[in-house]
Amino acid sequence: MARPLIAEIDLDALRHNYRLACERSPDSRCVAVLKADAYGHGAVPCARALEGIAPAFAVACIEEAVVLREAGIDAPILLLEGIFEAAELAQVDDLGLWMTVHSDWQLEALLAHRPAGPIPVWVKVDSGMHRLGFPPEAVEAVWQRLREAPAQACDLHLMSHFATADLEDSAYFERQMARLEALADRLGAPLCLANSPATLARPRAHGAWNRPGVMLYGSDPLEVANAASRRLAPVMTLRSAIIAVRELPAGEPVGYGGRWTTPRPSRIGVVAAGYGDGYDRHAVDGTPVLVAGRRTAIAGKVSMDMLTVDLTDIPEADIASEVVLWGRASNGEVLSVDEVARHCDTISYTLLSGVLPRVPRRYHGGQS
Ligand SMILES: *Cc1c(COP(=O)(O)O)cnc(C)c1O
Repeated sequence: MARPLIAEIDLDALRHNYRLACERSPDSRCVAVLKADAYGHGAVPCARALEGIAPAFAVACIEEAVVLREAGIDAPILLLEGIFEAAELAQVDDLGLWMTVHSDWQLEALLAHRPAGPIPVWVKVDSGMHRLGFPPEAVEAVWQRLREAPAQACDLHLMSHFATADLEDSAYFERQMARLEALADRLGAPLCLANSPATLARPRAHGAWNRPGVMLYGSDPLEVANAASRRLAPVMTLRSAIIAVRELPAGEPVGYGGRWTTPRPSRIGVVAAGYGDGYDRHAVDGTPVLVAGRRTAIAGKVSMDMLTVDLTDIPEADIASEVVLWGRASNGEVLSVDEVARHCDTISYTLLSGVLPRVPRRYHGGQS
């Protein structure tokens, strides 16, 4: 028998989540963000499942766009950070990409370029995230120069990113919005602002386009869930099995360093999954796991290829029992990757995009 660990990807759930993003923002179109290999889900199969319902995709760099084009994906693809060097403009041209322009050197490179046809340009403004983008007071001049260069740039959009759209406290979000609305008014610019939390919970930010990412994969990005985020469906199920069972008396340490000690006579299950697969080694004792569709918890430190769980209260669990590290068990029980992330002092993004190539992906659904 092969090692039982697999990442099952439910492409119907992906389509459901994408449609939910559209339903939340009926006057916007949604770019489906497929960067980081679709947050670990596989960019090509995810793009194929969304082709026909998503009018455009977004990635972090040309290399990710090349993978999609080579697989025959011909929908528009937005480069969220634009180019990293001027020489990439030839590829932007060849591959028919949309590009973000966030800094002066990118603007100058574009204006000095002689593309076959004008390139759709999304001008990024730093409205308060203080990562990428032109300062608001510089945007008008940038916009003007691009408008005066119809051979280089077309279809101008104004784009920005929120620092706190996921938080209940909306004060900083409102500050960013006020700057953006003032700019959009002055320039008459179509906007693309909303990430997943803003798509789900901040209608004020819904522009001509939104850019949902993590919500497409079923993770709830909101600090406090809302009616829409509760309808998200998990896309990835990280599934394995029990490969050994130990019966131990009370007082026995389990695993490296003996971090966890049996508090009572215990049955311990060994699961084929570890940090060598991308399961987070920071998972504390008590991190939830589903065994045979029932909740139990990690007991002892995660090893490279294995981890240990407490089976004492699941007497029916035995060798070959199903283990779900996050996602949906065969009996329908769901363990959200967000809940697992909280026990690892991280966010779903790192767990999902951190599943390593050793774990085979198995796809189902995705056809219309
Ligand atoms: C990754 C990214 C997104 C998507 O963010 P989520 O929080 O995953 O929805 C949107 N915009 C930009 C610029 C990004 O880099």
